[in-house]
Formats: sequence, C-alpha cells, structure tokens
Amino acid sequence: MRLTVAIDGPAAAGKGTISKAVAAHFGFAHLDTGLLYRAVGAKVLAGGDPVAVANALDPADLEDEALRTPAVAQAASEVAVIADVRAALVDFQRKFAARADGAVLDGRDIGTVICPDAAAKLFVTASAECRAARRYKELRDKGLDVTPEAVLADVRTRDARDSSRETAPLIPAADAVLIDTSDMTITQAVARAVAVVQAALDRG
Ligand code: C5P
Repeated sequence: MRLTVAIDGPAAAGKGTISKAVAAHFGFAHLDTGLLYRAVGAKVLAGGDPVAVANALDPADLEDEALRTPAVAQAASEVAVIADVRAALVDFQRKFAARADGAVLDGRDIGTVICPDAAAKLFVTASAECRAARRYKELRDKGLDVTPEAVLADVRTRDARDSSRETAPLIPAADAVLIDTSDMTITQAVARAVAVVQAALDRG
C-alpha cells in the first residue's frame, strides 16, 4: 500500500520512536530526516561549506553514529536555517516519500513543506522539561558526559531556532493530528499514532 506518513515535532518529543514503530507496524520504510541535517552539520564542523556538502550528500553519510552528539545536533539546527541547504535536501526526501511500499518521514517540515499531501500527518510534542529529561537519559545511557541543565538549554536553543527561522519553521500542518507525549507511555503514544495512520488507510 502506497501511503506517506508525515511525523513532525520538536527535538526529543518521541518522533523517532513513534516513527519506527509505525513503520514496523505497517511495513513501511522510515526516513529520519534529521539525519540529513545532522550529516550536513557534521561536515560543516569538519570545515565544509554548508550548501556544497548538502548538494553532495550521500545516503551512506547518514549511517554514522557520531551524528547523535549534542554538538552535531546544534550544528544541524544552524545549517537548517539556510534556505539553499534545505532546498538541496528536498528531492531526496520526496523520492523517499514516493516509495511504492509506503513511507514514514519524521522531521520538522514534512507535513508542511516536503509532503503537504501526505495521507496521514502527526505533530508529536511534549513539554521542554520532559523532552530534555528523556534526551539526558538517552545521552547518558550512551556514555556521553552531559548535565541535565545543559541538555535542557540545548533543547530550548534548538526549539527557538527551529520555530523562528524564516524557511520551513517548525509549526504543525493545519491538518496534522497533535499528540502530546508528556504524560503518555511509549505504548500509548504508538497506539495513538497507529490509529491515526490506520484511519487514513481505511479512508483509502
Ligand atoms: O530531528 P533531529 O533532532 O535529528 O534534527 C536535528 C536538527 O535538524 C533540528 O534541530 C532541525 O534544526 C533540523 N531539521 C530540520 N528539518 C527536518 C529535520 C531536522 O530543520 N525535517
């Protein structure tokens, strides 16, 4: 079944977990579009030009575990402000969305800019404190040396930059279903998302 699912929301709201679970449930492919911006950010930290590296990005660049660090996340949100960087990444995302076997894309502008015609759109959010607490645990579990205060500050800086940029700011699409995961378990949030996608499939 060919169906595109757009899942947007701020950092650490649970988008990634929900997207993977939805993709697995329906047998759809999944693209974490944040990895594209992270890959560009990482290459810029290594001295590259943002627009040039965005135009030359290779899918293999997305496999690097080092893309998960807070420094790369900040660099990603900085390059994500540049309109020409965003434009360079559009085709790759739209091609992925058009896969015959169904696709879930998660990011910030999937339902608004990349796939405005997606059959199912979700906006997954949670309070900044909840998101920072989850991200802190995740980074600590990976053995990274972080403090709760620094992680909360990072989340707030990225939220502000992502929401206030001129090109493709982080806002819910008018037809997105909002899921606030602050007081939800992962199981509850996934069940809600699966129900929204199932309803879209049932509508045909
Ligand atoms: O989702 P993730 O935290 O990996 O994204 C890293 C950064 O990439 C975000 O803070 C945001 O600035 C940018 N991004 C974006 N548009 C997307 C996905 C990510 O601007 N579709």
